[in-house]
This record gives sequence, C-alpha cells and structure tokens, in this order.
Amino acid sequence: MPPVRPAAIRRTATTLADGRELIYFDDSEPYVSGQRTRRLDDPRPLPDRFAPIPQPDGSLAPVTGPQMRRDPLTGDWIPMAGHRMNRTFMPSADACPLCPAREDADYSDGEIPATDYDVAVFENRFPALLAVPGAPPEPWAVDGEELWQARPASGRCEVVCFSSDHDSSFADLTPGRVRTIVEAWADRTAALSELPGVQQVFCFENRGPEIGVTLPHPHGQIYAFGYVTPRTRTMLERAAEHRAATGGHLLRDVLEAELRAGVRIVAESEHWVGYVPAAARWPVEVHLAPRRDVLDLPGLTDAERDDLAVTYLELLRRLDRFFVDGAGAPVPLPYVAGWHQAVLGEGRELGRLHLQLLSVRRAPGKLKYLAGVESGMASWISDTTPERVAARLQELA
Ligand SMILES: [Zn+2]
Repeated sequence: MPPVRPAAIRRTATTLADGRELIYFDDSEPYVSGQRTRRLDDPRPLPDRFAPIPQPDGSLAPVTGPQMRRDPLTGDWIPMAGHRMNRTFMPSADACPLCPAREDADYSDGEIPATDYDVAVFENRFPALLAVPGAPPEPWAVDGEELWQARPASGRCEVVCFSSDHDSSFADLTPGRVRTIVEAWADRTAALSELPGVQQVFCFENRGPEIGVTLPHPHGQIYAFGYVTPRTRTMLERAAEHRAATGGHLLRDVLEAELRAGVRIVAESEHWVGYVPAAARWPVEVHLAPRRDVLDLPGLTDAERDDLAVTYLELLRRLDRFFVDGAGAPVPLPYVAGWHQAVLGEGRELGRLHLQLLSVRRAPGKLKYLAGVESGMASWISDTTPERVAARLQELA
C-alpha cells in the first residue's frame, strides 16, 4: 500500500468576526511547514453572535439559543429552531459560503477568509444545537404542563469543508486528503467530547440534492449532542440486553457473525471490514467497522486511519457505480454517511465505532420515500435484500 499519511498535518485555529471558531487542517506546502499561514482575520462586519439584539423600540434583547422539547409519547428530544439570533448578514444567493475567498477581492462573502485551504472546519452559522453562554440551563414545562418538558438545545454544530474545489466530491479526493479529513474528525470528536453536557458526537456527510443538500460544495457536518439520540438509545438498550443474555459485545458479535457468514462482506482490508447488514433497511446500506474494538475516531491508530482513507475511498467509488442509467453511465449515489461513536456517559463501553452509509436511491430515477409504514409506524419494509446489494458491490470490486 503506498503511503497515505501526509508528512504532517498542521492545525491552525482562529476566530471568525462573529466569534465562531474556524480551524484549518493543512497537509500541503508552504502551510504545513508553517512557512506561510492561512488568512486568520475575518473582514466581514458581522456582529458578535452572542451580543444583545437591538429591537425596533431601541431596547436590547438577549440572544436565546434553540430549545428542544421531549415528545412525551416516545421520550425523544426534538430540537427546534426559531430562536433569536444575530443574523443581520446573509451571503448573496450566488455566492457559495464554503468556497475560499477570491484572490481579487479583499472582502469575502464566504465563511473561509483564506484564498485556498486543504480542509477547514468552522462552527455552523445557523446551528440546530448551540450553547449560549450565560443562558439559564434549567428545564421548563411548556405551557406549564409537566408532561411537556423543554430544555435549551445546547451542544454544537460544525461544518467540515472537505475540499476548496466547489465541483469536487469526497470520492474524488486523494487518499492523503481523506487522511487529513480523518484527522480533522478525530480532532473535533476529542474537542467536542470535552464540552460541558455533550453526550455524543456524530460526524456525517449528506451527499446529493436527493438527500436535501442545498450546498453542492463537498462538505460534511459534526453534531455534538447534549442528549442521546433515539437510534443510539435503542442500540444501547439492545447492546445491554445482549450483554446480559450472552456476556458478549453486540457490535463486535455482529461483525464476527458477518465475517463468518461472509456473503454480505463487501470490503476487507488489514484493519477494516465493510458489510451490508443482515437486516439492512435502506435500498443501499453499508457498514464499515474496524477489526479492533475501538470506541471512537480518536481511538484509531495511525495505521487504522491510513487504511480507512484507502478503504473508504474505494468503497465510495464503487457506490458511485452501483446504479447505471439506460446508456450504461454511472449514476452518482446520493447518500448519508455517519460515524456511530461511543456515547460519553453511561453505556460508553457498549459502543463500538462504525460508519453507516445509506442511500434513498432504489433505482436510477427512483427514490425511496418514507411513506405511511415508515413515517407513521417507524416500521421499515425493504424493497430489496441485503444479499442482492452485497452481490452488486462485490461485482464492482
Ligand atoms: Zn463552493
């Protein structure tokens, strides 16, 4: 295997005009050696995001973050926007906020002031989860009814720019650049895990307009949740039941069972195994897990990170050839790819790092919609079989 790891990765943190954090992860010269530094100042006239907001009558109103309410019927927390934020600045409709600043302009509409970058991470300007400094953390009862609990939707949302090239995509990147992204994910997971109240960190990519992506620029997101999400809660309950019944670790036992069965294995490398889960629910679904028990991305060794960059890219490139149109041309796959990592509180030892990649595309020109049975009952009906999906991916290897 050719060397994947850049000779070094340089991390440079700065603050945007409204107080949000921006971090450059550089693997190319002259930045990686420190000979030059990316632009650190943000020339935009943005108000401090937590500064009180002037009202029409001249008074000042404090910024309030998003709230979340607990569905009393399921126990799920639902974060809600509609909070009061300093949002006087909006980028013009034709400007991509993730593209680097233009060389010929000293003022940028974008979120990244440098004229180029390798990988960049910044706090989302319009976050679904946000810890407002000084905001009272106490829960309250909606309309005074104790059944309806509400809390500040604290946490943090970040954007990861995978490339400065607007027309690129993750699958087009070099293994070295993917390796830098892995480093950025691990760095952010470690940092966000330290924030007060954060219970889990989710790094993910939504790819394609079919998934609802509004910015085509290659990017992903990171959510640091102040609560355990419904899927994770369910998985923890199942893992605890499995441990009580068998003494085993559910996620490891699933991986070992898939390796024994073999039929749904679609990728195997020194450190990683890709498989279509035996009870996959999406039209295309692949999980990628390390062979070694690892709780989260920061727990991966350098060798596992190098291998991941190569193995994941190879898998993504196959997925982009999964469907072909009438003329035999590949149809790029819309997908959601997210990293399940161990929670930070109770149940942490039940976690095991794995990537879940899923697609709503069930055929060229056909999408799976979450209709009555899925949306109304959260009960899934698959239009295919996991073995058929795995066979197609094996054929493309
Ligand atoms: Zn762009």
